[in-house]
Amino acid sequence: MTLKLFQKGFNYSQDGQGNRLVYHLQGCNMTCPWCANPEGMPMEGAMIREAGKSPRLSCKVYETEEILREAVSCVPMFFDGGGVTFSGGEATCQFEALKEVLTELQKAGIHTAVETNGTHRRLPELFPCIDQLIMDCKHWDAEQHRKYTGVPFSVVYANLKEAAAKHPRVDIRTPLIGGVNDSEEDVAHFLDLYEELSGPNVTFELLKYHEYGRKKWEECGWTYAMDEKAHVTVEQMKDFQEKIRGRGLTYKKS
Ligand code: SF4
Repeated sequence: MTLKLFQKGFNYSQDGQGNRLVYHLQGCNMTCPWCANPEGMPMEGAMIREAGKSPRLSCKVYETEEILREAVSCVPMFFDGGGVTFSGGEATCQFEALKEVLTELQKAGIHTAVETNGTHRRLPELFPCIDQLIMDCKHWDAEQHRKYTGVPFSVVYANLKEAAAKHPRVDIRTPLIGGVNDSEEDVAHFLDLYEELSGPNVTFELLKYHEYGRKKWEECGWTYAMDEKAHVTVEQMKDFQEKIRGRGLTYKKS
């Protein structure tokens, strides 16, 4: 089987525990206007036009065996509990090949992580071959979730609940975005939702909005629609983090 990737490289602790080889899989079913990797959104890849360079398609095709071989050759680099992470785009958009490669990596004794928007109906099928499951929870409100991501919240919610109930290691992340999900009402509802999902196997983390993706949107020939109002303050982040801890939940980072 084959996987389409638009980026790969090592990253320490940002995409799972320890030092990790991170594969960014092409294609996403969401349309978040703040996306930091817009070139990873189209299933067939995006045409990137960087100044002074020829236009190029964002993605390349790899055999799953190539990825397995590469990962095995990198084992000495997987220190501090590291391993391989599949991110995106949305990794589960290439479900069958993802399942195959995760299974083979586990057989080879390599720690596996997946970063997902949680929308795939068959996500629980992958639980046995994912050691660390990193799931987004972008909005608590179904209508707002659909408005900003283009996708209903119902499957995400069902998958979050099933993961919290059955997966041994779940990290739930919320990108905090001004005017989208950062009001006092939003925070109160997120806290209730987090509490519902809580357990010794579940951590929570807030990701501060940034606009690192702006240049890439322009290189893809698209308009970056986010404005200054999307920035949240350090105080807002700290306050929300404290409230998470105040509910007795585990916040991932200090
Ligand atoms: S789910 Fe992630 S990869 Fe997909 S559009 Fe949203 S931010 Fe981008």
